[in-house]
Amino acid sequence: KLFNEIQELKGNIRVLCRIRPFRPWEDEKSTSVEYIGENGELVLSNPTKKGKEGGKNFTFNKVFGPSTTQDMVFKDIQPLIRSVLDGYNVCIFAYGQTGSGKTYTMMGPENATEKEWGVNYRALNDLFNIAHDRRDAIKYELGVQMVEIYNEQIRDLLGSGGSQKKLGIQNTTQPNGLAVPDATMCPVNSTSHVIELMQTGHNNRSMSATALNERSSRSHSVVTIHVQGQDLKTGNTLRGALHLVDLAGSERVDRSAVTGDRLKEAQHINKSLAALGDVIFSLSQKNAHVPYRNSKLTQVLQTSLGGHAKTLMFVQVNPDVSSYTETLSTLKFAERVS
Ligand code: ADP
Ligand code: MG
Repeated sequence: KLFNEIQELKGNIRVLCRIRPFRPWEDEKSTSVEYIGENGELVLSNPTKKGKEGGKNFTFNKVFGPSTTQDMVFKDIQPLIRSVLDGYNVCIFAYGQTGSGKTYTMMGPENATEKEWGVNYRALNDLFNIAHDRRDAIKYELGVQMVEIYNEQIRDLLGSGGSQKKLGIQNTTQPNGLAVPDATMCPVNSTSHVIELMQTGHNNRSMSATALNERSSRSHSVVTIHVQGQDLKTGNTLRGALHLVDLAGSERVDRSAVTGDRLKEAQHINKSLAALGDVIFSLSQKNAHVPYRNSKLTQVLQTSLGGHAKTLMFVQVNPDVSSYTETLSTLKFAERVS
């Protein structure tokens, strides 16, 4: 009930802030997070500039402190994920600078144990379980697509030819049409199958491990779970889709320091994140015109942004004071759309 009211107020956009814990080798005393409130309050301060600059206050739908577990995060968004089985389109994405915990939230750490599983695995696992519980009334079919958007080009991560194939976008007017019809769609029916698929997709992102890390922070990864359900009594069908997005790092690249490919990448990232911000902002303002066409990212996500779709953003924060400037700009981005 409360959630529905928030949805009404915010134009179907919910913003959850997650502060990642310090790494073992980092100094906990150098934190820029001054206060985390029960009701989504966050105060950020810059300890290196004591006195000069006071704390900055933000309010989001919720703030998850550093000790929040993957399970606690998932519990909070579970109703949203389950609504996909009722025919809703849902988009969940993680925004923040590289190293702020986006991939941890969406996928989990490398070689995650079940406890460390991120939203992707938990969502699919949960959808399978609910579909199974409802099997006497509704026959569900689930399919997964996985693409990467790099330099405004869309690549299939589940195709047999690796990530080399470049894909086009279909202008979807029907709410449940496929935005990227040529991306390989894999039917899935068990969690172990999904784990295998995600690994394939992950491996297809690049060749070597270092290159993968580098590359993955500069491309958007989009996992889409398509759901089709048929009511066994009436024969009626419903469709829903869940987009799970690990965005490229939002850090500003020093333009005077980079040239060539790096500069081009940085420009593409800036452009697409700005386009995403503009789309969500205009949805939150309930504007008649929503500028979806300004980036590939917003075009791919169009069916799950706006209309009757539900959107949730994780704003990821690295608590270290050395990240203060980036954190501030991340929180300002989030504040604008919430
Ligand atoms: P990003 O994807 O934003 O670049 P990562 O998800 O790779 O960031 O996180 C950076 C590092 O911090 C990784 O080693 C990750 O495992 C760790 N980390 C991030 N969030 C958490 C968390 N909530 N709990 C424990 N470790 C975390
Ligand atoms: Mg990452």
